[in-house]
Amino acid sequence: MQSFNNKMLRFFQDLWPAEEKPVVLGEGNTDHPPVMLIGEAPGEQESLQGRPFVGKAGKNLDGFLQVLELRREDIYISNVVKIRPTKVSDKGRVSNRPPNREELALFTPYLMEEILRVEPQMIVTLGNYALKALCGPRAVIGDMHGAPVSVTVQHERQQGDFSVFPLYHPASIIYNRSLQAVYDEDLAKLKGLLG
Ligand code: URA
Repeated sequence: MQSFNNKMLRFFQDLWPAEEKPVVLGEGNTDHPPVMLIGEAPGEQESLQGRPFVGKAGKNLDGFLQVLELRREDIYISNVVKIRPTKVSDKGRVSNRPPNREELALFTPYLMEEILRVEPQMIVTLGNYALKALCGPRAVIGDMHGAPVSVTVQHERQQGDFSVFPLYHPASIIYNRSLQAVYDEDLAKLKGLLG
């Protein structure tokens, strides 16, 4: 995994110098973990600290782990896009934006290779971007959340079948409070599946 990460770091840092856009790679248990969690992209704190799901997103992750009775180091945590997508306002304020088509096209093959190397027992996608990366552009979280689907992941000549469990992105619950009960119910279903 280390040589793979080094290869990827070199590749992405040629595109985005580290001081401009730090690359935030996946981290955690790379040996057939019970869960591989896939988010959208790093936010401000992730980019500053060079680690996925820290800061506010890390707090959400703590709740997720508590329900599943897992520790952070038990699972593997990554994002579809490995740099922080940003926009700059007229006043010069930098903020997050959703990943664009070019970023998704660039990073998705790397995610497929990452999954095939880590070989998770269950993939948990958070939100629409991670879901679409695995299940295709027509997949919609509103229709697919809370029920596992089988997905064939391919990269170059390698392929493997994986169970994917789609969850709403915890950030979307902040904007739509009514999703909290749905999210909690889905998480309970996931707990049941993981045994
Ligand atoms: N932080 C991450 O690393 N990923 C997300 O999707 C959100 C916050």
